[in-house]
Amino acid sequence: MQANLRQAVTLLSKTNYNAIRSAGVLYSRNYSTTHDADIVVIGGGPGGYVASIKAAQVGLKTVCIEKNDTLGGTCLNVGCIPSKALLNNSHYYHMAHSGDLNSRGIICENVKLDLDVLMGQKTNAVKALTGGIAQLFKKNKVTHLNGWGTITGPNQIQAKMSDGSVETVNTKYMIVATGSEVTPFPGIPIDEEVIVSSTGALTLKQVPKKMVIIGAGVIGLELGSVWSRLGSEVIAVEFLTSIGGLGIDGEVSKSFQKILTKQGMQFKLGTKVMGATRHGDSVTVSVESVKDGTKEDIECDCLLVCIGRRPYTEGLGLENVGIATDDRGRIPVNAMLQTIVPNIHAIGDVIHGPMLAHKAEDEGIICVEGIQGGHVHLDYNCVPSVVYTHPEVAWVGKTEEDLKKEGVEYKVGKFPFMANSRAKTNNETDGFVKVLADKATDRILGTHMIGPGVGELINESVLAMEYGASAEDVARVCHAHPTCSEALREANLAAYIGKPINF
Ligand SMILES: Cc1cc2nc3c(=O)[nH]c(=O)nc-3n(C[C@H](O)[C@H](O)[C@H](O)COP(=O)(O)OP(=O)(O)OC[C@H]3O[C@@H](n4cnc5c(N)ncnc54)[C@H](O)[C@@H]3O)c2cc1C
Repeated sequence: MQANLRQAVTLLSKTNYNAIRSAGVLYSRNYSTTHDADIVVIGGGPGGYVASIKAAQVGLKTVCIEKNDTLGGTCLNVGCIPSKALLNNSHYYHMAHSGDLNSRGIICENVKLDLDVLMGQKTNAVKALTGGIAQLFKKNKVTHLNGWGTITGPNQIQAKMSDGSVETVNTKYMIVATGSEVTPFPGIPIDEEVIVSSTGALTLKQVPKKMVIIGAGVIGLELGSVWSRLGSEVIAVEFLTSIGGLGIDGEVSKSFQKILTKQGMQFKLGTKVMGATRHGDSVTVSVESVKDGTKEDIECDCLLVCIGRRPYTEGLGLENVGIATDDRGRIPVNAMLQTIVPNIHAIGDVIHGPMLAHKAEDEGIICVEGIQGGHVHLDYNCVPSVVYTHPEVAWVGKTEEDLKKEGVEYKVGKFPFMANSRAKTNNETDGFVKVLADKATDRILGTHMIGPGVGELINESVLAMEYGASAEDVARVCHAHPTCSEALREANLAAYIGKPINF
């Protein structure tokens, strides 16, 4: 039936075709079609899909163009979600395999890893969540075009579909949410088998004997933890002299490194990678000390290149509307998230700010609100960061290093998880909470934590900071006992009055 219709259509003039199609009689992907929309969102990652749903919810006729087969972008397909699935399950394996569970009276003998099943659970989580966005699009009446979006004019965009057809959308507004891609290391080609990016490290077919990671930032440490727990010898080579990337508090970073080292990860800090050569199934990585130039070759069977991500604007057609990217490839936007073309906005990893899913989502919401005439505001100082290792690391606001640089006088309140009843009960006492508050006003300026479940706990600090709370405010809030959140309360008490109760 469909084939007959297509044949019939080839005999029709384009005018007749459009007339018939607009009457809802037929639909064929072999023809260039035209849509009218209020807003087109390019990219279906956390920034783009959230912006699309929000736009549809406020009554805008919304089209979201996504080039990949599944929605959810980097975060759901090759980022946050698969990495957290592997982190969670590798932690369970490690607890069973390392004797941790035995020490709790749960005797695990002959513990084995089924990597295929572990990977399968990750794949199912990704499938369920990406499918969930497709459902949300249907529910909210967002038109989803699975194609490559290219801006052809300030009010027009074309989507090249996988079958070669082109759909043109005329629109009042556009939001560019095209995200980011892995930054390549010059001279080290990624094959996603032996020399892998974060994407390949999420799908390795076997546990490497020895993995070298270039870059001890958040993603490198998370994925390094996964493979270390599953049995790899992991060495992270880092140019800087600390781990955790930019933005982490210095004291937390030191403690983090000690804990990961205790867990078996090795670090070569202040060390440059000079090159890497693959020989069959192994790689020789040449490194050099930044301090004294000492050279070393490290052999491994998996090299993970993890030096960061860069904005993605390939084939987007920015040049067609006169938008130039900045020196880091980002699309410049004003406080309203508008580019130099006022009806074209940009959000998420493709613009300035931390490359985080929740930052992209929040920008998606406020961008649409701005288009509707609302107030556009996001306090970037209150965007939290979390490293989902075990223990977790989380922070929000200023570090001590920031405050010193800015000449702000501050107080420090600290509380160790060793003295927290819940952490002690659970035998998870590594880490501490550190609160930084303004010396004169007691206003909380930053919170830095390493310890059990701090990726959840940080949101309490974010809320406090968003409401301009003082350390005293949090210290006076009744917290359930026994919870790890009492450590946050105690650290605020220590910042406010100088002393916690339980330490
Ligand atoms: C391994 C890893 C772990 C991570 N873990 C976390 C974490 O735990 N927490 C966190 O907050 N962040 C994490 N991130 C970062 C997070 O994934 C990104 O910050 C987030 O996905 C950015 O969202 P976005 O919408 O801006 O872009 P993206 O998620 O990159 O989505 C952009 C989408 O646009 C599409 N696209 C691009 N160009 C076009 C075009 N021309 N036409 C049509 N479609 C196009 C792409 O296919 C993509 O789907 C992680 C990243 C990685 C790699």
